[in-house]
Amino acid sequence: MMSSKVSNKEYIMSKISQYLNEHLTGDVTTADATRYTYATDGSILAAVPDLVVYPSVTDDIRKLARFTYQLAQKGHILPMSPRGSGLNQTGAAISDGIIIDTPTHMNRVFEFDQKQRLVRVQPGVTLGAINAALQLHGFHIPYEGVPAAATIGGAIASNTHTHHGTYIGDSVAELEVVLANGDIMQTKRLSRRELSSKKGLQTMEGAIYRAIDTLLDDSQSTIKTIAASRVPANAGYPGIAQVRRRGMFDLTPLFIGSQGTLGIVSEMILEADLYNEDLLTFAVLVESYDDMVRVINTILEHQPESLHVVDSRLAKLAYKAGRRHAVVAPHIERGDAFAAVLVGAFGDFSERTRQRKVKKLFKDIDRYSADRMVAEDLDEARALRSIENDLYATCQIAPKASPISSLFSGVYIPPRRVTDFLASIQKLTQHYRVALPFTASAISSIYSFWPSLPVRSTQDKQALFKLYDAFSALVIAHGGSVTAGEAEGRLKAPFVVKEDDAGTQALYQAIRQIFDPHGTLNAGVKNGFELRDVAKYLRLPNGAAGPIIRPQ
Ligand SMILES: Cc1cc2nc3c(=O)[nH]c(=O)nc-3n(C[C@H](O)[C@H](O)[C@H](O)COP(=O)(O)OP(=O)(O)OC[C@H]3O[C@@H](n4cnc5c(N)ncnc54)[C@H](O)[C@@H]3O)c2cc1C
Repeated sequence: MMSSKVSNKEYIMSKISQYLNEHLTGDVTTADATRYTYATDGSILAAVPDLVVYPSVTDDIRKLARFTYQLAQKGHILPMSPRGSGLNQTGAAISDGIIIDTPTHMNRVFEFDQKQRLVRVQPGVTLGAINAALQLHGFHIPYEGVPAAATIGGAIASNTHTHHGTYIGDSVAELEVVLANGDIMQTKRLSRRELSSKKGLQTMEGAIYRAIDTLLDDSQSTIKTIAASRVPANAGYPGIAQVRRRGMFDLTPLFIGSQGTLGIVSEMILEADLYNEDLLTFAVLVESYDDMVRVINTILEHQPESLHVVDSRLAKLAYKAGRRHAVVAPHIERGDAFAAVLVGAFGDFSERTRQRKVKKLFKDIDRYSADRMVAEDLDEARALRSIENDLYATCQIAPKASPISSLFSGVYIPPRRVTDFLASIQKLTQHYRVALPFTASAISSIYSFWPSLPVRSTQDKQALFKLYDAFSALVIAHGGSVTAGEAEGRLKAPFVVKEDDAGTQALYQAIRQIFDPHGTLNAGVKNGFELRDVAKYLRLPNGAAGPIIRPQ
C-alpha cells in the first residue's frame, strides 16, 4: 500500500508509463532526470511533467491522445503538451502532465516536389535540417532571426516571426493533425462539396467541421473585425478569419499559432521559397533613436531581405561577454556614444543590383549614420547577422538579474508610432528605475525589450508584473500588440485579455471548446492561466536553481 500522496501519484504514473510502453512503438518514461530536463523552456516559467513520451510514429500520438481522452471522460485530466526544441518564450512548451517530444524520432524530411516547391516533413525536424535539405535544390524556408534548432512543429504552433518580416506559418500548405480524441484530420482547402461531405462524418472531425461552420455563420461581425485588423497578433485563434476564403474552406490557418491547444501536428506540407545565399549584408551605426527611426524608414524604402536592430546597451553587454562584432567593437573600445546598430541584407539575385542599392542607401543615410560597413565575405556576413542571437547566450552572465526578454518580446509597434513609443518607454524607465534596451525586427516593426530584473522575492515578482502591466498598456495605447511574435502561451495569457474585446474572447473560447472539450490539450496555455499561476511558475530567468515546481 502506498504511504503518501506523492508516492501514490508516482505509482499511478509508473503504471500509466508501463501501459503506454506496452502499446506505443516509441518510448515513455517517468525518470526524474528526464522529467526535470523538460521542466523549462525559453521562458521564465517552469513545471515538471509527470511523463515524457517520445512518439516514433503518428499512431503513437493517436493512441496517447485516445488514452488521455478516455481518462478525461472518466474525470481524470492528464493534459498533453507537444514539444519541439523547447525554445518557446511564453511557457507553452512545459507541462504539468505529459510532454510529447517530437524531435527525437519524428524528425524526417520525407520528400521534396521541386516543380510544385512542396516539401513533406515531420513536426520534430529542425528548421536548420529542413533548409540543409532544401538548399541542395536551391530552395529554403525563410527563418532568419529564429534559432536553427527550432522545430517546424514548434514554429508553426507558435507562428514564429522572422527578420524577413514573414511568419513561418506563411509557408504551410497542409497539415496532418491528431485531434484530442486520437482521430486524425488532414487539413487542406475544401470546396463546398468536400466541406459538406466532411460535415457528414460521424467522427470528431465531422463534429469539428459542423461546429466551426456554424460558429462562422454566427460570428460574422466579430470575424470581420478580426480580419480587418492591421495589427499582427497571435493571441487566441485569429486564423479563424482565414478559414473561409475565396469560396473555399480550410482549417489550416486555425492551427497556426494555436500552441498545441487544438491538436497535435503529426505531419505537414510546406511551400518552399527560392534560396539565394549571395546576400549583401550591411551594418549601420546610429547615434540617436530619432536617427534610428529615420534610417530604418530609408532602408525599408530600398526593400531589404531582412533588417534587425540591436540597442547599443545590449551590444555592449555582448561585447562584455567576449563578442567582438566588427561594426561595434571599435566604437565600444574608443568609448564612442551610439544608440543602436542596424544589420540588414539585400537579397536581389543580381550582384550589380545589390551593389547599386547599398551605394544609393549609404548616400541616402549619410547624414544620419555614424558608421557603416558591408560584409566582405560569407563568414563576415554570418557574424554580422548573428549579433542578436548572441545576446541570448550573453544573458546568462548576470546571475542576479539577467535581462529578461521572454515576457517583453514579440511587441508590434506601428512604424509611425515608434518614436512616440520609445519616448513613453523612456518615462516608464524613469518611473520604474529599470532600463528597457531593445532589439527589433524592423521590416515587421516587432520589438523585444530586455529589462534586467531579479525575480527572487515576492516583491520582485510584484514589481515585474506592475512593470509589465504598465508596459503592455503603453503598447496597446500606441496601437500595438504584445503577441506579434509568438502567441501568448501561459506567460502572457493573463495580460492579453486587454487586447481583444469580449466578443472576440468568447469566439476564441468557443473554438477551444470545440477542439478540446475535456481540457487535455496543453492545459493552461492561451486561457485559464492567471497572474497568480504565473507567479507560482516563475523561475530564475537564467535557468539557475530557482523555484521549480516539484511534482505533487
Ligand atoms: C534565442 C532565441 C531566439 C528566438 N527568436 C525568435 C524570433 O525571432 N521570432 C519568434 O517568433 N520567436 C523566436 N523565438 C522563440 C522560439 O524559438 C520560436 O517560437 C520557435 O519556433 C519555437 O520552436 P521549438 O521547436 O523550440 O518549439 P517549442 O518551444 O518546443 O514549442 C512551441 C509551441 O509549439 C507547440 N508545439 C510544438 N510541437 C507541436 C506539434 N507537433 N503540434 C502542435 N503544437 C506543437 C508547443 O506545445 C508550444 O506551445 C526565439 C527563441 C530563442 C530562445
